[in-house]
Amino acid sequence: MSLKSIGGSGIFMSKQNSPDYTVVRNIKQLATPITNGKPFLRGREMREIATVDNAALAVQSDTIEWIGRDTDLPYHYTENANIIDGSGLVALPGFVDMHTHMVFGATREEEFAMRCSGATYQEIAAKGGGINNTVRTTRESDKSQLRKQTMRFLDKMIRHGSTTVEIKSGYGVSGKDEVKMLDGIKMVKDDHLMNIVSTFLGAHAIPPEYKEHREEYVDLVCRKMIPYVAQKKLTGFCDVFCENGFFSLEESRRILQTGMEHGLTPKIHADELSPLGGSELAVEVKAISADHLENISDKAIELFAKSNVIAGMLPGVSFYLGHDYAPARKLIDAGAVVALATDFNPGSCMSYSVPLMMTMACTQMKMAPEESLTAATINAAAALKMSDRVGSIEKGKLADIVFLQMPNYMYLPYHYGENHVAAVMKSGTWLEYR
Ligand SMILES: [Zn+2]
Repeated sequence: MSLKSIGGSGIFMSKQNSPDYTVVRNIKQLATPITNGKPFLRGREMREIATVDNAALAVQSDTIEWIGRDTDLPYHYTENANIIDGSGLVALPGFVDMHTHMVFGATREEEFAMRCSGATYQEIAAKGGGINNTVRTTRESDKSQLRKQTMRFLDKMIRHGSTTVEIKSGYGVSGKDEVKMLDGIKMVKDDHLMNIVSTFLGAHAIPPEYKEHREEYVDLVCRKMIPYVAQKKLTGFCDVFCENGFFSLEESRRILQTGMEHGLTPKIHADELSPLGGSELAVEVKAISADHLENISDKAIELFAKSNVIAGMLPGVSFYLGHDYAPARKLIDAGAVVALATDFNPGSCMSYSVPLMMTMACTQMKMAPEESLTAATINAAAALKMSDRVGSIEKGKLADIVFLQMPNYMYLPYHYGENHVAAVMKSGTWLEYR
């Protein structure tokens, strides 16, 4: 384990050697989406947040056992328990970052500087930058280097309140290097407290060596890579970057359908830079999520409202690249299921702060603070098929709870650029930072 539980800091009200329960008392406010047993919330439901003031919660092992008002806490939970004082803290479900590319070789601050001086994406790519820059450094890195950096990022993500994270491959774009990435993700999954879900994204970019005969690379993805990663059970999801200059609609359809034939659930990077129709394809293949959607068509918004495809909003990318934001307001008003993530990657969003994304969701995409919380928790968990275990604070769910020093949950997107996380409970283990 990379992150260790820290005790003895004076916040324990009562500490036992082998307690039956961990109990947090006097929590200023506990807030969680109201699921009523649903896997996700759509449209108007996204505003339904339950709050309990002066709350308590009891956890047995890694599972939430009881939540309610502190004055209603049954006595037996306190008899042989580690009791922790939650005074002044707001408890929220641990954040679920449902879209990241956090395993990569090297950072790209030189390209950032070029962009700040007005260089276009094409100019940067012509000088060896862009995704292919990260492909080169990721191929050059060995598994232990990738592991070390990823573990460090995961520690910091937990400190910003994330307790579940999705990580995509896609910087290897060769059979050997994609497997190296997925193997590396599996290694950190075994070694870190974070819940980690991996996604195969062999179709992230056409690798430089296939530039002149791209169809051969699509063949390689479909005939070799997908069958291999499925057979070795390296992941349960298959993603594609459906975009001009990357993978066409036809190629994307073939890749996702091949993945489905091998038992991989489809995900898609859709309509980011142009309205290519990736959103419509997501509905057609019943993708679990379609992410980006900056250029989604009105027709596709209507289709999303009638389907269970989760619309993954990545406002950090629009902010970082100076692009238009996805029409989250329109999607929610139409009745779609909307989730939120960082897209943490070295090129288009070098941030793993989910609370910062919530601020952008509110100020730039006109989402209500309640909607941003639902999008970053239960709906994001559903995009990873994990909403039966995480994404809300409910009896029987995993005790993944973030404690923040602030007056109420609405304060989180309001006061931005500050890490309000005081402590995190991950699977019942108390990680304390104050
Ligand atoms: Zn992405």
